[in-house]
Amino acid sequence: MPLFCDVALAVPLDMVFTYAIPPGMEPVVGGRVLVPFRQQRLSGIVVELHDRPRQVVTSQIKASQINASQIKIKNVIEALDLSPVLDERLLKLGKWIADYYLAPVGEVFRTMLPLSAEFKRSVAYRITDQGRMALHLAGMSGSPARSKRTADEQLVEFRVLDHLAERESVREERLRGATRVGRALLSGMARKKWIAREDVSAARDAARVVKVAVLLAAEERAEASPPLDPSTSLRSGSRGTRPHTSTAKKLNQNQLTLVETLAAAGGRLPVEALRGLDVPRTSLGTLVRRGLIELVDEAQDFTDSGVKLSKLKPRQSPLEFEFSAAQKDALTKIGEAVASRKFAGLLLHGITGSGKTAVYLACMRQVLDAGRSSILLVPEIGLTPAVAADLHQVFGDEVAILHSGLSAAERAEQWHRIRRGEARVVAGTRSAVFAPVGDLALIIVDEEQDSSYKQEETPRYHARDVAVMRAKMAGAVVVLGSATPSLESYYNAKKNKYALVELPDRVEMRPLPEVEIVDMRQEFQETGQEQVISRKLAEEIRERLARKEQVMVLLNRRGYSPVVLCRTCGKALQCKNCAVSMTHHKRERKMECHYCGHVERIPEKCAHCGSEYVYFVGTGSEKLEELLHGMFPQARIGRLDRDTVRGREDFEHALNALNEGALDMLVGTQMIAKGHDIHGVTLVGVIGADMALELPDFRAAERTFQLLTQVAGRAGRGQTPGKVVLQTYFQDHYAVQFAARHDFAGFYEKELQFRAWMHYPPYSAIANVLIRSEKLDEALTWSGELGRWFEKTRHEGIRVLGPAAAPITRLKRDYRYHFILKSPSREKMNALLRAMLAEAAARKIPRTQVIVDVDAVWLM
Ligand code: ADP
Ligand code: ZN
Ligand code: ZN
Repeated sequence: MPLFCDVALAVPLDMVFTYAIPPGMEPVVGGRVLVPFRQQRLSGIVVELHDRPRQVVTSQIKASQINASQIKIKNVIEALDLSPVLDERLLKLGKWIADYYLAPVGEVFRTMLPLSAEFKRSVAYRITDQGRMALHLAGMSGSPARSKRTADEQLVEFRVLDHLAERESVREERLRGATRVGRALLSGMARKKWIAREDVSAARDAARVVKVAVLLAAEERAEASPPLDPSTSLRSGSRGTRPHTSTAKKLNQNQLTLVETLAAAGGRLPVEALRGLDVPRTSLGTLVRRGLIELVDEAQDFTDSGVKLSKLKPRQSPLEFEFSAAQKDALTKIGEAVASRKFAGLLLHGITGSGKTAVYLACMRQVLDAGRSSILLVPEIGLTPAVAADLHQVFGDEVAILHSGLSAAERAEQWHRIRRGEARVVAGTRSAVFAPVGDLALIIVDEEQDSSYKQEETPRYHARDVAVMRAKMAGAVVVLGSATPSLESYYNAKKNKYALVELPDRVEMRPLPEVEIVDMRQEFQETGQEQVISRKLAEEIRERLARKEQVMVLLNRRGYSPVVLCRTCGKALQCKNCAVSMTHHKRERKMECHYCGHVERIPEKCAHCGSEYVYFVGTGSEKLEELLHGMFPQARIGRLDRDTVRGREDFEHALNALNEGALDMLVGTQMIAKGHDIHGVTLVGVIGADMALELPDFRAAERTFQLLTQVAGRAGRGQTPGKVVLQTYFQDHYAVQFAARHDFAGFYEKELQFRAWMHYPPYSAIANVLIRSEKLDEALTWSGELGRWFEKTRHEGIRVLGPAAAPITRLKRDYRYHFILKSPSREKMNALLRAMLAEAAARKIPRTQVIVDVDAVWLM
């Protein structure tokens, strides 16, 4: 066995750490080990085994900066895995991500493994003999405290001892919860040796184990003889196969109840389930001692939890359609690419309602039939229950669905299922791109332009781009699907990096909806009033309601009013942590910051000048719903946004109601725009979907075009053609105009021109470097220092803009400054960024305060 191993730890340092391997321990590359790190124990991934006793340094920090003689190499505490949890390919992918996105490799690995519980250090306490003695003495004599303060303290300490005395060992969080004491007090008690601190093994911690009672007699009988009624055979004790014990004593009533219950359940049940029987616990113990029942630890079965069947109405099986010529063509092209077992990228550009999902499912079915694996990435599976239902219908148990509603433990279990090869079809959000499937043949990225594929925390990877890289490394096929491809992907297709496959028509030749633009400036002039719902939209809604058709209205802003203003001094109520205004939520009677979640009471007076003339401005989805109720009192209106939808159930509930005709109208944020397929909707109203056009972000036009196209795509998906009423203040804007004409190619040409002039993607790689600190001074100094460094550094061809205040100058307490880098060469840009990080480290700027966002999608 090699003497040392290099371990990637999930800490914000761009390096791996060397540990010594104690004799007899056998860590594996790609497996986890538990190691001491500073005052903690952390688990990390072994990236290399070797015999070189020095710290291995990967990127930013130069080897010379570390004095090897000073470093005492510590031992690995425990090897947690016998076989790799990240195989060679996933390790390689992780390293690529670390390199490409300049992220610490340990943090990348943590993201790739949904075993977060297993990475967490967990501390428990137990009472010592000394502690027992102290408790005992206190009980006899009362506390011998000298002052009031120590007396109070001792009382608390005894509360802790009391709690521990009855238990074996208690997790720190539990103990603190139960006794309401602070960490410091526990440490003090540990120093006095009244209690002992211990680490709960990280690996065991994560497995959710349940005790299961197994009826041994029943199992034997099943093998030995034809099935008999187990209760009779046991009651008589001699007929049938006898139980384990030779002394087949008669069972008492309680024992009999247990045995019969177990037998009825097929011979095994979780012990927990037997508790409900009103039988003393000792009965089970007796049966175990007599060898009739065995207790075994079993990993909890999660197969249901991850993949609860959607309650949506069963629909026609998604594969039973007569595929259109375009669908067939797409299927053939993808199938051929898969069969060639070489990397290939395809861009499936299919308009809304063209039947892309059916193509995905058919491809995945073929892959599964060939005994290989596929992954389907979706922006947010909780938001597309219909897709989950389809997946179940087509793949049954072979599909693992990873969505945001899963708990950490459920996620871990799904991961293990996939790794064991029990689920060879995986569907999920962003991180499903790391699913440990074997023999990967196909990755499909649905709605590839969706910004939720970009992780907005370290590592800031883009799942679509990682999917492409993973496919490359695996010799697999990647399909990017969308009605509104990102400019990057469409450009790549035009440059023949991807094959372009198009579905230019809706299924069964249904027409795309007619789009009517309503100019809200003109509306204002004609009505003399600021309108939320134009006369045109109101009229169209009235018509649909009369015809018993359904309506969706989009307003991409939740809450009641987005701004509270003071009439006297003109100031808005801002979040105390962020430079953004607080949103009024009427039903919940609160002000909420949509960036950091901070909540405040609704102000009666201006916080700046004390004036009582505060007023609420603007409209969010909550107010829109109220307005529509007022205008159409008969209509049944539902609302979908993050305030009404807490979980997937709420979401399905609302969509179901619409699907079944229990709702006439659905109001909501962009949640309603995502791929729902509800045939009764014939009118879509769009209110202020062009709000994003005002943002200082070069992707504003692209996002607006995409959102408008998506939401328009919800109309007229059934027999009756649909219509869209698009209210805008930017009626001349090309994003609005092209969306109204369903002209993707037109938008694309125009937008590309603009990107070329401005040196933005896809013509340049970009990175956003954000400097943040709770102290304004620090943020300023650091960005100034790095600004000067950028100035005097040679970086040919790379444009560095900044430092400048970020558009949101303060967020979650941090003051924010940023640089934007644009470079035709990605390699050069990354080299410069790496040098910048080294400079920042040399200047002792904490790594967590310098955020490098390569291919940033959000520049705010
Ligand atoms: P997209 O994802 O492209 O917007 P979907 O995959 O949701 O479109 O398909 C739109 C609708 O058409 C769905 O109700 C789907 O079940 C149905 N569909 C798909 N393919 C066909 C087909 N060949 N014939 C008839 N209906 C189809
Ligand atoms: Zn004021
Ligand atoms: Zn805030």
